[in-house]
Amino acid sequence: MELIFDGHNDILLRLWMANDSSGQGYIEGMDTHIDAAKAKAGGLTGGFFAMFTPQQNATGEAILGTDPITMTDAQSATDAMIGIFQSLCREHPQIIRQCHNKEEIEAAMAAGIMAAVLHIEGAEAIAPDLSNLENYYRQGLRSIGPVWSRSNAFGHGVPFDFPGSPDQGAGLTQAGKNLIRACDEMGIMIDLSHLNEAGFWNIASLTSRPLIATHSNIHALSPSPRNLTDQQLAAIAESGGLVGLNFASGFLREDGEKTAATALDVMIRHLDYLLEHLGEDGVALGSDFDGAVIPEAIGTAAGLPNLTAAMADAGYGKALIAKICRQNWLDMIAKQIG
Ligand code: ZN
Repeated sequence: MELIFDGHNDILLRLWMANDSSGQGYIEGMDTHIDAAKAKAGGLTGGFFAMFTPQQNATGEAILGTDPITMTDAQSATDAMIGIFQSLCREHPQIIRQCHNKEEIEAAMAAGIMAAVLHIEGAEAIAPDLSNLENYYRQGLRSIGPVWSRSNAFGHGVPFDFPGSPDQGAGLTQAGKNLIRACDEMGIMIDLSHLNEAGFWNIASLTSRPLIATHSNIHALSPSPRNLTDQQLAAIAESGGLVGLNFASGFLREDGEKTAATALDVMIRHLDYLLEHLGEDGVALGSDFDGAVIPEAIGTAAGLPNLTAAMADAGYGKALIAKICRQNWLDMIAKQIG
């Protein structure tokens, strides 16, 4: 079975929404794409664990709305998710381990322990003057997507309207540009997924690092604003960057429908396109497990071997499959965060 390092999952959000402060559901099993048993069964042994703060409705229920949220709400949710994560790592060191660099990830993966790297999806918890960035870094934060699909103090995300262009809205704010420079200096990876085109081009000109989209697909195959245009892919390729294939049916299908009845060959079409535009070193996985409706042929993390089997059926060799499943992420992490 191929070992997988994955670019994006939302399991910490699910645990937080279930008021599971110790993360016990992850250990005992729950109705999610990822838990300890499903990860083990599917070879999922590492990945970026996102902390995303949802909007709340009038009764305090979490909803996937795109209205701006406050820094207070974002900090309280983010700190709670870090708490869940740290509790899991402390109480179950043989199951999940917090990692800060490639070496730690490789050691955990080799020991069959989930190698988890903390990521913030939408930087609302970061103060616009960046005064708390270092504190989050000390807690293990190694990756930030400046925006989710909404606006914040740093920039503007793309909405989900289908079909649509990612070229909607203004570029990064001054605080956004400061955030990119600070992350470059500290060794925090910047994730371009969810960002609009103006912000994307701002970052492309600000940073000398390879450009990364942890969980995005191809706009030419599925015209969602969340997907990458050929010009964006060319910039990512030129920077020596990487894209993680998103399993979300709504970003895979040409009709944009969110349905589990989505065949694996659609995912292969996106992978082929990524390989053609980014080369064999620029393509990885970014499942969006527990944040999206994914193809039923995968179902949960336990179904990952069905995807690698589809890659083999499509003629991908063993070395290429290993690159897509983990090696490209590991090499990129060494370049980005050490
Ligand atoms: Zn996302």
